[in-house]
Amino acid sequence: MTPLIEVKGLTKYFTVKPQAGKEKRVYALDNVSLHIEEGETLGLVGESGCGKTTLGRTLLRLYEPDAGRIFFRGDDITRVKMLPYRRKMQMIFQDPSSSLDPRMTGGEIVGEAIDIHRLAASPPERSERINALLARVGLNSEHANRFPHEFSGGQKQRIGIARALAVEPDFIVCDEPVSALDVSIQSQIVNMLEDMQAELRLTYLFIAHDIFVVRHISRRIGVMYLGHLVELAESAEIAAAPAHPYTQTLLQSVPIPDPKITRSRKRVVLEGEIPSPLNIPAGCAFRTLCPQAEKRCAESVPELQEVASGHWAACHLISRS
Ligand code: SF4
Repeated sequence: MTPLIEVKGLTKYFTVKPQAGKEKRVYALDNVSLHIEEGETLGLVGESGCGKTTLGRTLLRLYEPDAGRIFFRGDDITRVKMLPYRRKMQMIFQDPSSSLDPRMTGGEIVGEAIDIHRLAASPPERSERINALLARVGLNSEHANRFPHEFSGGQKQRIGIARALAVEPDFIVCDEPVSALDVSIQSQIVNMLEDMQAELRLTYLFIAHDIFVVRHISRRIGVMYLGHLVELAESAEIAAAPAHPYTQTLLQSVPIPDPKITRSRKRVVLEGEIPSPLNIPAGCAFRTLCPQAEKRCAESVPELQEVASGHWAACHLISRS
């Protein structure tokens, strides 16, 4: 079946000019390929600066890719005008405080999306839609008249979700949608996103730095490191048998109820800091921290290879089991 979303060789760099020296390209995404099936949630994890948000934004063409291709339901949308697709592909932002216009009420924020895509035939229909969307995210019609500063963090994120839902999307990039919220609110929002997915058959790219949050909501998980996708597998498989040394380090902090799995995990201790994206090491980007690095790790970039059915990892030491 054609995936809802597919990217092939997606590359995005930004040009920076240090105070002294020549302009440099910083590769936020380097040759990333993946697909997302209709109705699935693909989780995406990695440290901040690893390219997760850039991938989400480039998928939606909020950033233009420098190389590679983006497909939506098989249509190549890499260079097309995005307005017809924009309605189908939405984003929920990490920081609800900065993603809502402080001069607009909750109703105006949600209504703006309805207006851009002409989804209401009359003012009463528009109001009805706004109230239904607010109810869908656990708010009520009174919230339509309040400004962002009158909302709590969780309520602001609910407005952001209602705005994304207003255009009846098929695909939503959820960019760390709960990381700025109190722990007590996080599970309410994650549960609401799961309910909406089941009800509206939505497809998510769910970005988080906490692999525990992603594991709960995702069918598969992708792991990124300095612009590279280094591992991709079903959530349960990645938790039980992480193949890439970097994923093994990410999982060490996650409690697992099964002592057999805990005992079978390889312990990897990292010494040093993740390199700056301005100075990504040649060869495997992880080699300066990897305790298993060998000479060949400096010589060539490891390609993603299938280590077990549906389980992909990019490491020179891995061979198919
Ligand atoms: Fe470590 Fe080498 Fe594998 Fe990179 S390719 S993760 S440096 S062993």
